[in-house]
Amino acid sequence: MTMINRSCSWDGISREVIEKLESIPREAFMSAHLSSFASVDSPFSIGYGQTISQPFIVAYMTDRLQLKSTDRVLEIGTGSGYQSALLSLLASHVYTVERISELSLRAEQTLEELGYHTISYHTGDGKQGWPEHAPYDKIIVTAAAAELPLQLVGQLKRGGSMIIPLGPAGEVQYLYHITRDLQGEVQTRPLIPVRFVPLL
Ligand code: SAH
Repeated sequence: MTMINRSCSWDGISREVIEKLESIPREAFMSAHLSSFASVDSPFSIGYGQTISQPFIVAYMTDRLQLKSTDRVLEIGTGSGYQSALLSLLASHVYTVERISELSLRAEQTLEELGYHTISYHTGDGKQGWPEHAPYDKIIVTAAAAELPLQLVGQLKRGGSMIIPLGPAGEVQYLYHITRDLQGEVQTRPLIPVRFVPLL
């Protein structure tokens, strides 16, 4: 369990999401030399030029997904596995894709040891999604794409939704909420400005 010292207002994020987030020992997902910063509401390096996301962003994105306990979720960008842990506490199964095999393996080890067992891992290009298990009720992307990857939209169920940061690397990006209605029509809506590592 890690109580987060909030660096901004978390108003509007559901109690359930915050409680589940704080039930996760964040230090287990961080490098040993940074673990004393686990309660700090900022991103930190996890090696390979990547970061564990800021807890506020993890909570915010998860909240906006409105997860149901029956949902099957696709996550692109496993990273440390911290976000995957939270998703697994709120959905029925998480399929997580990471480009860097070392990070994927490390996340899997950490999550298995901590008892998060409803997660499947794949190393590969997340822009292709994970077609074998599609379609998904919800999709979450934790690296910023220059434009919406259409393969991912294609793997979203009708009535499903996706949250993804979009925008050029190093510049202001926005989190977008993408919904696919029952007719298959896609709608996109910007939420808040963010800064993510690029989706490569
Ligand atoms: N949710 C993670 C944050 C990870 S940072 C956490 O809480 O720790 C984003 C991750 O996306 C990085 O690990 C990076 O390697 C990965 N990534 C970047 N481009 C990718 C791609 N095309 N496919 C899959 N993963 C990718």
